Amino acid sequence: MTRSDTSPHAARYPAGAQAFPHRDLLGIGQMERHEILFLLDEAEQWVALNRQSAKHSDALAGLTIINAFFENSTRTLLSFEIAGKRLGADVVNMHAAQSSVKKGETLIDTAITLNAMRADAIVIRHGSSGATGLIADKVDCPVLNAGDGQHEHPTQALLDALALRHALRERGESADDFTGQTIVICGDILHSRVARSNLLCLQALGATVRLCAPPALMPVGIEAMGAEVFQDFDAALDGADVVMMLRLQTERMSGQFIPSAREYHHLYGLTKARLDKAKDDTLVMHPGPMNRGVEIDSEVADLIDRSIITRQVEMGVAIRMACLDVLTRRARGVEGWGEAA
Ligand code: ASP
Repeated sequence: MTRSDTSPHAARYPAGAQAFPHRDLLGIGQMERHEILFLLDEAEQWVALNRQSAKHSDALAGLTIINAFFENSTRTLLSFEIAGKRLGADVVNMHAAQSSVKKGETLIDTAITLNAMRADAIVIRHGSSGATGLIADKVDCPVLNAGDGQHEHPTQALLDALALRHALRERGESADDFTGQTIVICGDILHSRVARSNLLCLQALGATVRLCAPPALMPVGIEAMGAEVFQDFDAALDGADVVMMLRLQTERMSGQFIPSAREYHHLYGLTKARLDKAKDDTLVMHPGPMNRGVEIDSEVADLIDRSIITRQVEMGVAIRMACLDVLTRRARGVEGWGEAA
């Protein structure tokens, strides 16, 4: 199958495979700004398709995608599965709880097993930072990182950028990139791969990023990544265009990081009163799962004109379709993307 570049913005990145020269999608840290824009632009066609009643493409017909999830997931697993199916691929989900991992198989042996099944793309979520990179080294097909420990969650950052782009566009603002936007990420920054990927992605697209957390949940030396660091949530919100809330990742905590959920909510919970101190139109985001009443109040999470949380979920499917499409182009022999494998 051949297809030339369908992007409406083809001039802003190199042609063909040079637009995204990586075999794998392991992290935003591996990507150039134009590569991020390329994936966002590519996703637009899938946003449009997903809004039709017939949502099927045969772009990946005949290909096998394995979703290997060693950690729980709702949105990410479901949206990768839907994305693969909407592109016409055969999609298989492997849950660690039902796999030989529980019988003591090493990650490398699992990778070798997945590879022997001749998957055309492997999507991996794993509790250890760097695990997806390790698997990528052992397999012959593209690997997509669906979250590795506290390291990265690149498709989350891409879908967040796409959701923000759409929300800004609807307000008539130029959303080609986020220059001039001040974005607050508040919560358990220390344990959050979402925070890390978003910091890299939003900065690459020109935004000013403020990170806000209690000292125990703020990584030491994070300023070196160019973020503005706050302990006072009200100060962080002052003049913010967007606030992205993160949950407390208690599954990654050993010991007590906060005095109590109640005190945390008092200091770092996004309440309506607190949001009112920011701008009149500050947008609210959350990657999910939300802990309502802890880091975010229902009143805010469900604000129709301000919260874009469900739009983030919608954009997740489109972004994952774009990533699966782009990363399998070489194997499919798409024109300009190299020889079919
Ligand atoms: N769903 C996101 C992740 O997998 C955020 C979270 O779990 O809080 O990292």
